[in-house]
Amino acid sequence: MSQKLQAVRGMNDILPEEAEQWQWFEATVARCLKGYGYSPIRLPIVEHTALFKRAIGEVTDIVEKEMYAFTDALNGEELTLRPEGTAGCVRAAIEHNLLAQGASHRLWYCGPMFRHERPQKGRYRQFHQIGVEALGLAGPDIDAELILIGARLWQALGIAEGITLELNSLGDAPARAAHRSALVEYFSAHRGELDEDSLRRLERNPLRILDTKNPQMQALVEAAPKLSDYLDDASRAHFDGLTHLLDVAGVKWKLNPRLVRGLDYYNRTVFEWTTTRLGAQGTVCAGGRYDGLITQLGGKPAPAAGFAMGVERLLALCAEVQQPVREAPEIYVIHQGEAALAHALRCAELARDEGRTALMTMGEAGFKAQFRKANASGALLALIVGDDEVQADAVSVKFLRDESREQCRVSLAELPALLAAEFAVRP
Ligand code: ATP
Ligand code: MG
Repeated sequence: MSQKLQAVRGMNDILPEEAEQWQWFEATVARCLKGYGYSPIRLPIVEHTALFKRAIGEVTDIVEKEMYAFTDALNGEELTLRPEGTAGCVRAAIEHNLLAQGASHRLWYCGPMFRHERPQKGRYRQFHQIGVEALGLAGPDIDAELILIGARLWQALGIAEGITLELNSLGDAPARAAHRSALVEYFSAHRGELDEDSLRRLERNPLRILDTKNPQMQALVEAAPKLSDYLDDASRAHFDGLTHLLDVAGVKWKLNPRLVRGLDYYNRTVFEWTTTRLGAQGTVCAGGRYDGLITQLGGKPAPAAGFAMGVERLLALCAEVQQPVREAPEIYVIHQGEAALAHALRCAELARDEGRTALMTMGEAGFKAQFRKANASGALLALIVGDDEVQADAVSVKFLRDESREQCRVSLAELPALLAAEFAVRP
């Protein structure tokens, strides 16, 4: 007997009802980003493995244990399903010379990312991110803009109440080096309390120990030297500039000196939007500045900042606070009899010619059953076709949402004008 075929663990189908929510979500995000002048960019899902190692850092959770890396069986290339989008976006910007002569670009993209993690609520192996990147801009003003985009979006999605903003500064390279020495000294003195991962990271990337998910190590991490005590003046001024802009804009924020982010490319500003409503997986959006990444990947020096939001987690939050957004058809076409079918199809097409959405039952179905479906669909109008209407080259119109209005009959030639009048206030 053949084995039952199933989707790969941690990779989900998004079925029609849910997919409708996704469309609404993506349209809301696209509208919001347009308002800030961000352009879409579409990038490959597969990149050379070396790109992610160089961008994200060898000693990170992602590169050490979460990447879908493979050798192309046909030509031996080392490839990886992208675990995040920033590396590919920066690679594309360099490759196509987008940052020549101090140019700047505001970009966004959306799509699946892949990480080999333990699947659980809010954590999948194929998940989706919307990434927003501002390349070539150095000031705290662009950091503030990126945060304002988030704040506006939570409003538009109806989830602003449940989300808080945490901020930190990672400083520049010398500050991080000094902090690193202090961390090595501190964690070496507590060697006995470190788990296996952290012991390995102690020499190679001690900052990553602060990013541990191990609950047994939280107290130790809590008491570790803080980066904020080593911050350089320029980074401090940048951070103060950002918090001032946020305060004036009325965006609430909280300093989290433990916020380091799981990828090596960040410097100065880092931030996370988190919620307590989703259990353990509470970070819905995260980002920061990555001024060194463009040179690190072979481009001319240029500053940059960006963030990525987790679509599944944000949609889960939307589902917690509100009813799903359902797009009802505008028109339901009801028909009876063989001659009526062709006539009904014509009516539905005429409605679509007018830019309306029209649904009709295919195959044999009773008049009553079709009326029930029409009512349940949420449609505004029913177009009814029986033998009489066929004879008269007409259609009967019932106003499903307004019982005070009498059903009427119009000729097919009059139908476009009736629809135009009925839907005049709609886009
Ligand atoms: P976490 O700490 O939850 O592992 P992260 O720091 O690894 O998150 P980022 O690389 O910053 O995550 O990705 C940005 C966002 O993408 C996260 O805030 C989260 O909303 C989402 N995300 C990351 N990994 C997953 C995953 N495996 N499944 C679902 N969403 C994810
Ligand atoms: Mg992670």
